[in-house]
Amino acid sequence: MTGADQFCALCGRARSAEPALAALAWAKDAQDGAPRWLCGPCARDNVRAIEGKLPAEHW
Ligand SMILES: [Zn+2]
Repeated sequence: MTGADQFCALCGRARSAEPALAALAWAKDAQDGAPRWLCGPCARDNVRAIEGKLPAEHW
């Protein structure tokens, strides 16, 4: 692995410290062109929040 480490935007854990399988569960969330990473558990929680913010025309 090269490049800067990635940290969960919510809980701050380092992706490189995660087991390989857990690291695969990380989700990249790009908002306003500023990408951020969410670890598996935080991503699951955040999915609901993201879906809740969808405009009505998506339904
Ligand atoms: Zn997290």
